[in-house]
Amino acid sequence: MTPPLTDDNRYAALKDKETAKGLPFFLGVTSTGIFCRPGCPARLPLRKNCLFFDKVQDALTAGLRPCKRCHPLGGQHRLLEALMADILEDPSKDWSETALQAKGYSPTTLRRTFKNHTGFSLSDFVRWVRLGRGEKSLQKGGSVINAQLDAGFDSPSGFRSAYSAMFGRPPANTKPSTAAPLSIAWHETPLGRMVSIADEVSLYMLEFTNRVKMIGQVKRLYRLHKRPIEAGRTAISEQIESELKSYFNGDLTAFQTPLTLTGTDFQKQTWAQLQKIPYGETRSYADLAVAVGNEKAVRAVAGSNAKNGLALIVPCHRVIAKDGGLGGYAGGLDRKIALLALEGVEIKA
Ligand SMILES: [Zn+2]
Repeated sequence: MTPPLTDDNRYAALKDKETAKGLPFFLGVTSTGIFCRPGCPARLPLRKNCLFFDKVQDALTAGLRPCKRCHPLGGQHRLLEALMADILEDPSKDWSETALQAKGYSPTTLRRTFKNHTGFSLSDFVRWVRLGRGEKSLQKGGSVINAQLDAGFDSPSGFRSAYSAMFGRPPANTKPSTAAPLSIAWHETPLGRMVSIADEVSLYMLEFTNRVKMIGQVKRLYRLHKRPIEAGRTAISEQIESELKSYFNGDLTAFQTPLTLTGTDFQKQTWAQLQKIPYGETRSYADLAVAVGNEKAVRAVAGSNAKNGLALIVPCHRVIAKDGGLGGYAGGLDRKIALLALEGVEIKA
């Protein structure tokens, strides 16, 4: 276990605002009476005016007020949760940026903040929820025109092309199915929000929301499992949320949540080997290639690694360069460093 951070370490970590973002504590400022998230755009106060809190509640009970610039209580977070809930309630309404700005949403909230928060752009999110409605209607045996209307599309051709792009088949080819939907849920972690897709039996996806390829992973799940995806929580979403909490507290070294891996046989084989790398240890791509039984397959192994849709659980952050350097990470190198540090791994600079 890494020793607990001292307040001086925490203060030092705040100096670089970019890397400070997402650090798991709150900064109280005695001279102004406010408290902030690490990485707040406001100027870093003098060390003597700083207090550090592990929990929001502690900062509040110390009589401090939340900063209006960095919203340590998650003001944006609640606003966006409410917006997403409204969209999910009735995706066929006008959710264009123009309509939402007329309701008082700021353009920054709608673009950057929405994307950071959910992993989707607002327009992708709306389209995706609409297509999910259409898919559900088709799976219930409804006609294509009803599906189009349920999805809130004005034109048959618009619906057909958006639907085909999403599901990889035209709406007319969708056969009725009684498959239960998969549930998508979001989870807060000290390294940023994650999104999970699960049913009542197993977990299908776990990703950081700002991962570039995340939307591709969602589409792949749609296509391969042919099940609609809805916002909601299952017993499995709750299990992974609680395991994430323990993992980031340093109390959990092996995830127990049951998984459904979606990929080719080779990818699955690579992921199975990845899962054998113990907590706190690392391997190189070359080691991994040997483990899958083909030392020449280094590139293919690296490719499978990048397609992994179960961040942390299939621990591709434990794969580093052969010379002991960091190597790459689809979730961002800062996160890889933080994850390896959490697990007590020292990386050559
Ligand atoms: Zn602040």
